[in-house]
Amino acid sequence: MEIALKGIGVSPGIAIGPALPFRVHSLDVPKYPVRDRSAELERFNRARDEVRQDLQRLHQQTASKIGDEHADIFKSHLMIVDDIKLREDVESRLETESYNVEYLLDDIITQHTKMMESVDDSRFRERAMDFVDVGTSILSKLLNTDLRSLEHLERPSIVIAHDLAPSDTAKMDVEHALGLATDASGPTSHTAILARALEIPAVVGLKHVGAHALPGDTVIVDGNEGYVYIRPNAETVARFREEKRRLEEESRALLLVEHDRPSATLDGHPVPLLANIELPLEISHGVKVKAQGVGLYRTEYLFLNHTSLPTEEEQFRAYAQVAEAMRPAPVVIRTLDLGGDKLVAHLRLDEETNPQLGWRAIRFCLERPDIFKAQLRAIFRASVHGNVQIMFPLISGLDELRQVKNVVKEVCEDLVRRGVSFDKNVKLGSMIEVPSAVSLADVLAKECDFFSIGTNDLIQYSLAVDRGNEKIAHMYQPGHPAVLRMIQLTVRAAKAARIPCGICGEMAGMPMFTELLLGLGVDSLSMSAVAIPLVRAEVSGTRLTEAKRLARRALKLSTVSEVTAFLSKRYKERRALARYLGQSGTARPAGNHRPSPVKPRKTPRK
Ligand code: PEP
Ligand code: MG
Repeated sequence: MEIALKGIGVSPGIAIGPALPFRVHSLDVPKYPVRDRSAELERFNRARDEVRQDLQRLHQQTASKIGDEHADIFKSHLMIVDDIKLREDVESRLETESYNVEYLLDDIITQHTKMMESVDDSRFRERAMDFVDVGTSILSKLLNTDLRSLEHLERPSIVIAHDLAPSDTAKMDVEHALGLATDASGPTSHTAILARALEIPAVVGLKHVGAHALPGDTVIVDGNEGYVYIRPNAETVARFREEKRRLEEESRALLLVEHDRPSATLDGHPVPLLANIELPLEISHGVKVKAQGVGLYRTEYLFLNHTSLPTEEEQFRAYAQVAEAMRPAPVVIRTLDLGGDKLVAHLRLDEETNPQLGWRAIRFCLERPDIFKAQLRAIFRASVHGNVQIMFPLISGLDELRQVKNVVKEVCEDLVRRGVSFDKNVKLGSMIEVPSAVSLADVLAKECDFFSIGTNDLIQYSLAVDRGNEKIAHMYQPGHPAVLRMIQLTVRAAKAARIPCGICGEMAGMPMFTELLLGLGVDSLSMSAVAIPLVRAEVSGTRLTEAKRLARRALKLSTVSEVTAFLSKRYKERRALARYLGQSGTARPAGNHRPSPVKPRKTPRK
């Protein structure tokens, strides 16, 4: 019978194919006593050497295939291979127990796995996962068995796993990996980041997908809506095949449309559409869809992918690379937004009871001036390579903004003293993502060059709904009247101070909201690159006078359901996408408009 599971869609698209359940532990490990302990140790050391060589090779291959940031994962694995503790553990057990080393190593790995399952600390689990990953590779060398790897899949498959080790994902055979579905992970996990970077539809956080899917079972991964269907019935398969075909045709048609001219409304108002990026390698996606710049560069991914703090030089290279590639288009670099759900093992941030309200983003940076200043120096140095702007996350009041600007001043003075060249006119902006910043928007606007509304956090904090919590996901509502009013207040304050105000949260990439946001007076929209073609179509079909009228009417509504019904009706009636494709003489996709997402027909299991 068909099973529908709800998770978190972290990489868009639909994939349909046979399941390939992937388990790290699939080795048959013998147990026997040994007499020659030094020969046994020698075998262990040889296996380690071989794994070390494999990792060095993987490091190089990954760096050239998808970039240095991802290859860094293997540096930490190399450190584990050479970890004294691992060698000592095996040695001392060999000394006391005199069993074969594969048995001892397997036992050590099992203990780590158990520990990993019982501990809640995500950083610890991450480290333990890396340990298990490396240990299992050594084990497979000892047993002379090639571990089933995702590097060469026999046929196109949907990879199903409890969790994927970074090395598994990075090695993945992109040609044959149609989609990914995992029990664990969140949107900021390596799996999610890599899946997006590799453009593989993915759903994570499914809890029990591994328990339901058998090898070869047909599976549908709906990365847009975050659903996975196991053994779907013929009707569901047909529905998703049709949806997949339609989406592919639509995206082909959209890419064919001539959109070299900047995006603008029907009545000629320019509305820059920018890309959100996490890693420099995503620039190519932005370029493909003709993004007019980068509106949000989430720099914390440089830190998340490193085993130690990235140096100022490494950061400079990454920022300069993006600035150079987009030049003369703007690149808005957001300073470090760590903390909350984005934890970095090597910074050893304490677990907090309430991390989303805790020591994150700008709060963290202001207390770690060493890290903050190094990042600012790197950004300012990169500013001579393009059109760089800087914005600060989670600003909650004017004192904080002033403190930040003081640090910026110190950094600039230092660069001048040292004769380092940088752009003296780099624009400084505030992200508006906390209700206090909205109510103080008028005073903040007087002291910054631009605003960018981070609706992901603004919704979370305004509605008191944890954006990562599955149980209350239905309460996370961009169409909430309070959210609309917050956006209106912010835009008004920006206009009064004559500074631009954009949106860089996910809402900017939702076509149903485009006309409303333009009507509210938002100047630019920044989103993941995949969303740009659809939003461009909406902008092109918008007349600003009508959008303003729409916004006025929407603001009078009192409930989420009223707002949603109103916007969705309007969105369907406008048929902006069909018109856009029709006008350009490109083949019209099957539907007249982008239909509302395919919904599961059964109540999904959580
Ligand atoms: C936001 O909060 O809307 C935002 C863009 O920042 P992030 O999603 O990285 O928190
Ligand atoms: Mg945010």
